Amino acid sequence: MTSPPGGDPPRHILVLGGTGEARALAQRLDALPGLRVTSSLAGRVRAPAALPGAVRVGGFGGPEGLAAWLSGHGVHALADATHPFAATVSAHAATAAEATGIPLVLLRRPGWRETTGDRWQWVASLTEAAARLADRPPARVLLTTGRGGLAAFAALHRHHFLVRAVETPRPPLPPHTEILLDRGPYTLEAERALLRRHRVDVLVTKDSGGAATAPKLTAAREQGLPVLVVRRPEPPPGVPLAATVAQAVHRLRQAVRVAHAD
Ligand code: NAP
Repeated sequence: MTSPPGGDPPRHILVLGGTGEARALAQRLDALPGLRVTSSLAGRVRAPAALPGAVRVGGFGGPEGLAAWLSGHGVHALADATHPFAATVSAHAATAAEATGIPLVLLRRPGWRETTGDRWQWVASLTEAAARLADRPPARVLLTTGRGGLAAFAALHRHHFLVRAVETPRPPLPPHTEILLDRGPYTLEAERALLRRHRVDVLVTKDSGGAATAPKLTAAREQGLPVLVVRRPEPPPGVPLAATVAQAVHRLRQAVRVAHAD
């Protein structure tokens, strides 16, 4: 972080994080002259990877709390780089940005695309995924939807679940559950081996997008496995979108220049 020419104080950007893209964005912004970055984490993961710049942890207390934080900490622009399924915090960011007039950029990686050979079934929610599984004969299910919301599967006593998550999920869980604590990125080779070793019959995933966790989809395609894919929530309306870290950097730099000129 350095001061911009003319001795103006650095522009402050708050990055709402919890994703690899958020970390990459914070790194890129932190390296630019005239900017200072604070990353915000929800505090769900006990040992998050190191981040450049300042870091704050924990909820803000709803959109009003976030708006107060933005105003109270001299934030010039807000970057929402949270996970595509973190819909609540994204809605709060949109509300707080509107209330304060602070520019907001939403960094949202594109969703995954089905390709020839895929056996995907799109579902609207974890509840719908569980309902689809309930219709199937007993199966070995790899569940990679994170540690939240697993109660939706708790009544499925005929299936065996292999739940892969960064942190141990809390009950209620399905009665036949094996936990695999792991964190991406994953390689195709390792995903192929995992599906074979655990004799997986069906994969359940959110449409998280991104390269870090995509190899499981390739491995499932190669092995002819069906995949239940949970559709993403819509992003808040009217918020400028960036699909890549580079686009987000560009938009944020424009935003702080405009904000500065006002
Ligand atoms: P959520 O349901 O959208 O948010 C719930 C509450 O958590 C928010 O209202 C906010 O509390 C707080 N919060 C969430 N993200 C925050 C952040 N970056 N900084 C400060 N407070 C935050 O979120 P979630 O789905 O539980 O996800 C929590 C975090 O895990 C996010 O940072 C997200 O990027 C990351 N993550 C989520 C998923 C997923 O599948 N949902 C996957 C990977 C990583 P207040 O209202 O009190 O401000």
